[in-house]
Amino acid sequence: MNKQAIPYKIYLKENEMPKQWYNVRADMKEKPAPLLNPVTHQPMSAEELSVVFCEELVRQELNDEDRYIDIPQEIQDFYKMYRPSPLVRAYCLEKQLDTPAKIYYKFEGNNTSGSHKLNSAIAQAYYAKKQGLKGVTTETGAGQWGTALSMACAYLGLDCQVYMVKVSYEQKPFRREVMRTYGASVTPSPSVTTEAGRRILKAHPGTGGSLGCAISEAVEAATSQDGYRYVLGSVLNQVLLHQSVIGVETKAALDQYGIVPDIIIGCAGGGSNLGGLISPFMGEKLRGERDYRFIAVEPASCPSLTRGKFVYDFCDTGMICPLAKMHTLGSNFIPSSSHAGGLRYHGMNSVLSQLYHEGYMEAVAVEQSLVFEAAVQFARIEGILPAPESSHAIRVAIDEALRCKETGEEKTIVFGLTGTGYFDMFAYEKYNNGEMKDYIPTDEELRRGLEKLPQLR
Ligand SMILES: *Cc1c(COP(=O)(O)O)cnc(C)c1O
Repeated sequence: MNKQAIPYKIYLKENEMPKQWYNVRADMKEKPAPLLNPVTHQPMSAEELSVVFCEELVRQELNDEDRYIDIPQEIQDFYKMYRPSPLVRAYCLEKQLDTPAKIYYKFEGNNTSGSHKLNSAIAQAYYAKKQGLKGVTTETGAGQWGTALSMACAYLGLDCQVYMVKVSYEQKPFRREVMRTYGASVTPSPSVTTEAGRRILKAHPGTGGSLGCAISEAVEAATSQDGYRYVLGSVLNQVLLHQSVIGVETKAALDQYGIVPDIIIGCAGGGSNLGGLISPFMGEKLRGERDYRFIAVEPASCPSLTRGKFVYDFCDTGMICPLAKMHTLGSNFIPSSSHAGGLRYHGMNSVLSQLYHEGYMEAVAVEQSLVFEAAVQFARIEGILPAPESSHAIRVAIDEALRCKETGEEKTIVFGLTGTGYFDMFAYEKYNNGEMKDYIPTDEELRRGLEKLPQLR
């Protein structure tokens, strides 16, 4: 055990940075269920998936066997521009909370896109470029993924077409402009430029859109243009794989000081940052080497783990993407418009869904006013203005630290601080004005969302 004092920030040296991603599926006895063809309901073959996705990414998507996958040198070099990300000891927050708990956070907001999404964006853009494609299409919700992807595409000289959820397009003009500055074209979704968009507009006139709608549009745009493929910023297993760089770095940094966490907490939208952060630790738990508590934090207004069903569902509202077995609220579930806090996707990555189903991970749903309360508290004492998404994890980290105060336990808590909130000032404004409303869907509303689940043959 290393007796050195723990610094405020632990940074890995450049030569200590991960050279491989860790694939947690290799250590799962019960593998996540395969993606199914939305028409035949048969497992999607690599060939079928390659119509929509880049070839190497399809291989990664289907790879349940290899524990480690080499990070190509070019991606390692790109990572070096903004990684390693710091693992921060939240000494100031601990003192304010007067807790015996030790709190650490892994901060992924130190790049222009402002979130962890760049870790997968550069990988996906790299494989698209390597395949000789002209460009990629994608959706973006709050805009972090679109920003990250446009940065990666600009670096590699790829065309980038982004379908942006309409409410965000209108509420976050600066995000849109960052993407355009990096050379991306940005279309508000649903739009009339695709079949899927026109269909959704007809069924829900005036809708502010959803991630599910935007996905349908981006997939259609990819398959209707030569030399284009679709890329996705979350939910898929390949994204979780790329994001394992967060967890591998975290574990290496903790190991240097002999720190063993008790609780690891992350916010969960589609599951990629949480999955990436916990992966190497979950591997140890799955192999029976060590035990940890893992906590997924989701919004009470979009509670796919805590109140959804574990079934096959469409990944998109347009029902054209493959079916994934996951915790879902139904692909036509659109969270209340009073929900400002991000994490509005109806489903959850299938690896995390499976692990949750088997009891390896816990989940809690939190209301957004409590999330913003934690965000403001954190900003004032630790300095960083957190993204609303990240603040879900802050909320539960604080709650766990306060519990330690009651019991006197000196637990070590690690949470993922996925990004910064500079483009979320409308949401902060609502909170500061005391106008933020909490919305918890009724059982009846959830039932309606689950009505149109695909019936498997
Ligand atoms: C996209 C995003 C999330 C949620 O996505 P996951 O795939 O669940 O990680 C969380 N935090 C930030 C800052 C994001 O941009």
